[in-house]
Amino acid sequence: MSQDGEAENLKAEEQSAEDADDSIAVIGGGLIGLSIAWELARAGWRSTVYEKGRFGGEASWAAAGMLSPGGEVEGPSALASLAIESRDLYGRFVENLEQASGLGIDYQECGGLDLAYSPEELRVLEERARVQAAAGIESRPVTAAHIVAFWPRVRREGLAGGRFYPKDGVVNPQELVTALAKACRRAGIQIHENCAAARVEVFEKGATVESCRGTAWHDAVVIAAGAWSSDLEMRGAPAIPRAEPVKGHLIGYRQPEHTCATIVRHRGTYLLQRANGLLIAGASVEHVGFDRELRDEIAAGLAGEAAFVFPHLAETAPSEVWVGFRPESDGLHIGAWGSKRLLLAYGHYRNGILLAPVTAARIAAEINANLQTR
Ligand SMILES: Cc1cc2nc3c(=O)[nH]c(=O)nc-3n(C[C@H](O)[C@H](O)[C@H](O)COP(=O)(O)OP(=O)(O)OC[C@H]3O[C@@H](n4cnc5c(N)ncnc54)[C@H](O)[C@@H]3O)c2cc1C
Repeated sequence: MSQDGEAENLKAEEQSAEDADDSIAVIGGGLIGLSIAWELARAGWRSTVYEKGRFGGEASWAAAGMLSPGGEVEGPSALASLAIESRDLYGRFVENLEQASGLGIDYQECGGLDLAYSPEELRVLEERARVQAAAGIESRPVTAAHIVAFWPRVRREGLAGGRFYPKDGVVNPQELVTALAKACRRAGIQIHENCAAARVEVFEKGATVESCRGTAWHDAVVIAAGAWSSDLEMRGAPAIPRAEPVKGHLIGYRQPEHTCATIVRHRGTYLLQRANGLLIAGASVEHVGFDRELRDEIAAGLAGEAAFVFPHLAETAPSEVWVGFRPESDGLHIGAWGSKRLLLAYGHYRNGILLAPVTAARIAAEINANLQTR
């Protein structure tokens, strides 16, 4: 290391004596950042979460909450394996969190139904299922008569059949982040809300985070700031991959319980119902930067697609419309980046709710393997 580097290291270490903070910094208090902090706490690490707004207030609050390898995975890939692994971890993840937080979480192992309204759509579903089976995703064919019997509200005209994915599920992401924040606080993790991290500097023996709280020294830093991850100023590390927002509108209807007891999908549209009655339909995919405006024409388009699947929805307007920013990157980044002191956890795009347990497990395992617990 150069003299300048030595001097910087010393300066940062002196600073650490003043600002002595917890050992791991997590930047971003969305579902990914909070899950990592909680998993680290369970492994004996202390950590601090820096959140520029309200914990879980961005993509993790906006998400529909599908846990759906069946809806999202096209064939064998690294993503497919992670998605299946995470789906299998979910039941235990929710159970542990409920215990740790004392809060209930709406988690449904309900399955997902894909609908086909023409022989051609059915053929596409069957071909996709064949490729998915090679990736370990189970599904079975369902006849139109069966769908009419078990999903009585679904449009009957033109129904050609469908495929059922028994392992797809649903979670309420808002309840999940609320429980996580409580469990994290109970575990002694510091969550600094309304406290953006501005700069990270990586050294041989640790890393500093500059935030509204000044400069703090940590053993390692995990960047989990979703679509904003690459806005951080970085020093002492290779440039980190760019993160991009992909805006999505969702709409919600207040409906009687069991209106939609499983996920129901048709082409690009999905519908699911939370235990609190909210029936959600989505979602748009828009490359428009961080534009928070709600667009009537996009909500109307989603409502039209929802009413195609559930004709009774044509008689009612959605009671809620909202948007969020999926964190896209050139791939999913989970793990060390140029140094064991810097780890990335972003690029989860459409599947961050599904992938939270496996992301947290991988990051904690890497930190456990490479750093020594205090
Ligand atoms: C419309 C829509 C529907 C979706 N549906 C699903 C679904 O059904 N299933 C699924 O699995 N996924 C779904 N997703 C994707 C999922 O929401 C995301 O992949 C996931 O929430 C990403 O979590 P995150 O914690 O990385 O990001 P976020 O929840 O966005 O959290 C990042 C946090 O970092 C904070 N932050 C940013 N910069 C800084 C900084 N400098 N300092 C401190 N804090 C900072 C932000 O304020 C934010 O709270 C959906 C997304 C959208 C938009």
